[in-house]
Amino acid sequence: MRVKYAYLDEQFNDFDSYIDELREWVYSGEYTLGPYVKRFEEKFAKYNGSKYCIGTNTGTDALILALQACGIGEGDEVITVANTFYATAGAIVAAGAKPVFVDSDDRYSIDVDKIEDALTPRTRAIVPVHWAGMPADMDGVTEIAKRNNLKIVEDACPAVGATVNGKKVGTFGSANGFSMHPLKPLNVWGDGGMITTDDDEIAEWLRLYQNHGLATREEISMWGVNKRLQPIQAIVATRLLDRIEEMNETRIRNAKLLDAGLSEIEDFVKVPPRPSKYREVYQLYLVSVKQREELIKFMYEHEIEVKVHYPIPLHLQKPGRELGYSENDFPNAEQQAREVLTIPAHQFVTPTQIEFIVDKFKQFYQKHA
Ligand SMILES: *Cc1c(COP(=O)(O)O)cnc(C)c1O
Repeated sequence: MRVKYAYLDEQFNDFDSYIDELREWVYSGEYTLGPYVKRFEEKFAKYNGSKYCIGTNTGTDALILALQACGIGEGDEVITVANTFYATAGAIVAAGAKPVFVDSDDRYSIDVDKIEDALTPRTRAIVPVHWAGMPADMDGVTEIAKRNNLKIVEDACPAVGATVNGKKVGTFGSANGFSMHPLKPLNVWGDGGMITTDDDEIAEWLRLYQNHGLATREEISMWGVNKRLQPIQAIVATRLLDRIEEMNETRIRNAKLLDAGLSEIEDFVKVPPRPSKYREVYQLYLVSVKQREELIKFMYEHEIEVKVHYPIPLHLQKPGRELGYSENDFPNAEQQAREVLTIPAHQFVTPTQIEFIVDKFKQFYQKHA
């Protein structure tokens, strides 16, 4: 029984139902910003409980702009976690600041108890990452940010719909980034991103800056850039937003089934703790496993398409080492990089497939115990 990691063909197998709206859009000539982008921004802001949503061309640009909108730049230090996607740190550097890494906790999330050790007089912001759809400890991050007068910019890129104490991610920071990359739960036909904020001035600055600083067609009020969300992606995202809760619920169902099955072999497979105050949306379903390389080979022999996100933490990548980091700086992140495994649990994986996956895990460890 094949269990596929990629599912975009299934996600968009209703392509024909898009045609009428796409035709209407093409004939409308609204190819930059315009009503389709505005409609999506308003819909997402409402969904997320945010005052404003500003569409952007990528999640990475959403993070760069969010940092810049908070006044982060040259000479500033920004704290983030060592196990995340490259773009979290890349965005901090692109905004002109220096990333300062902190170790992860047993939820693959920033260890809030270690944040204050990483503060210096130059620290200006914290970028908590809702890694793989697993919300960071926003109670802890918010308290530390308040105590030390730091901005929060959430990297919510993979986590549309995740919540902490019932409150959506992307509502805790001053400005926050989401991604609509094809591998994220809310995924479009290419790249797309958005920024959420409740701050009138930040929203106003972002709208101007992301669109050449255009105050009117003839006048600019600042030097800006072009980082706009494309209308075609807004059309796709508007439709998917109607289904995101259903998709998230199916992922959550699959994750619960995997949690239950894998807990029977807990000597070999470590499921992270799942405190009930967090609603995870499982962009990726992550566990830590023993004998990872042999296990991966065994899984592919049975057509179960597992993956590794990621084998090298950011501080041990070339640009991370160039910042002065080395082995043993972040023991948890390093151990997780050696042991972490992504198991397909997306909305097109069925309970029967989950049962098959769990059986294969048990079979592997019976043989290799
Ligand atoms: C996907 C992702 C990004 C980058 O988003 P893009 O839209 O691909 O630029 C940044 N941070 C995290 C945690 C992500 O998962």
